[in-house]
Amino acid sequence: MSKDVFVFVESKEGVIRKVSLELLSKGKEIAGHLASRLHAVVIGYQINDIAESLKVYSDSVITVDNELLKEYSWDTYTAVFAELIKRYNPYMILGPSTVTGKDFFPRLAARFRSPMVSDAIGVDFDDNTVKIKKPLFGGKILSWVVCRSDSMIFVTFRPNSFSIEAGDLNGAIVEEHIEVTRDPRLNIVSVEKTISKKVDLQEADFIICGGRGVNGPENFQILEEIADLMNGRVGASRSVVDSKWRDYDDQIGKSGKTVSPKIYMGCGVSGALHHIMGMDTSKVIVAINKDPNAPIFQYADYGVVDDMFDLLPILKNELQMVKEEV
Ligand SMILES: Cc1cc2nc3c(=O)[nH]c(=O)nc-3n(C[C@H](O)[C@H](O)[C@H](O)COP(=O)(O)OP(=O)(O)OC[C@H]3O[C@@H](n4cnc5c(N)ncnc54)[C@H](O)[C@@H]3O)c2cc1C
Repeated sequence: MSKDVFVFVESKEGVIRKVSLELLSKGKEIAGHLASRLHAVVIGYQINDIAESLKVYSDSVITVDNELLKEYSWDTYTAVFAELIKRYNPYMILGPSTVTGKDFFPRLAARFRSPMVSDAIGVDFDDNTVKIKKPLFGGKILSWVVCRSDSMIFVTFRPNSFSIEAGDLNGAIVEEHIEVTRDPRLNIVSVEKTISKKVDLQEADFIICGGRGVNGPENFQILEEIADLMNGRVGASRSVVDSKWRDYDDQIGKSGKTVSPKIYMGCGVSGALHHIMGMDTSKVIVAINKDPNAPIFQYADYGVVDDMFDLLPILKNELQMVKEEV
């Protein structure tokens, strides 16, 4: 087995997801430490432009270009990626902890009977070993997983775990040809896309999250306005989604999305563990809740005990003034 590092590059409609560049930046550091090579792996259809733009971030850009790979599907992507792993025999396979990564990486790890760390947030080194940082129990415990030197390992990382460094490599593009076939058990009848011009929830630097305390879908308007002023996104607790005040796409937590923004602001969110598990690695946590005993205050860097409907209009005005001054 080589000590090479693979990074699965996820893209959406021809645009590379920010998290993939974060992983390539960290992947370069890991490969440097292991004195090995970093490969960006791009699977899709008509991906030449994506591959070209990745040359500066990796020692090689491995591509598999096929019309059947235009949309992500577990059967085709797992089979193609598994074949690439067999051909290159890498040591570490890194991917994003996104909906796609969460679906796809456990399947690969199972195929190779290899260990997997999901939802990781950091990397460190101890002589020749790589250590993966992973939060447990809603961030109450931070664990370090030491990678064995004799076993391939799969790791998914939360978006916003690493910064993007300027690329200074000059990797060659290697086009791999793999026969792609659909799993006969799978019949996709139609794909319906939600069209959103907003920044992706998992990649947003600023999230203002509404809980049951928002008290109705119409009251999310002020959260939307603040999110726009901050170029961020509105998130929601499961209570809100279950009440059909917001779409599932906005849900943060154990059964929703895992986010790690620079600022998370919870408004009328109590801070149940199932919610905390999805946002505890946010860089700064701000909580607004009228109950001083709300559990979210245990996790918050800044807490405000107040009625959110008194506070948010003031915040919005302040942000507007700052924006006008700039
Ligand atoms: C298997 C499982 C998976 C789950 N997955 C998730 C998940 O992915 N995401 C998730 O969020 N939950 C999840 N849950 C549910 C979770 O346990 C909680 O029930 C949920 O997070 C509570 O949502 P909330 O904080 O919005 O509501 P509540 O717990 O009802 O809290 C509302 C808060 O609003 C405050 N408030 C009310 N009015 C105001 C006001 N005007 N101003 C300021 N504060 C106010 C109240 O003081 C209260 O603290 C899951 C549960 C299970 C069992």
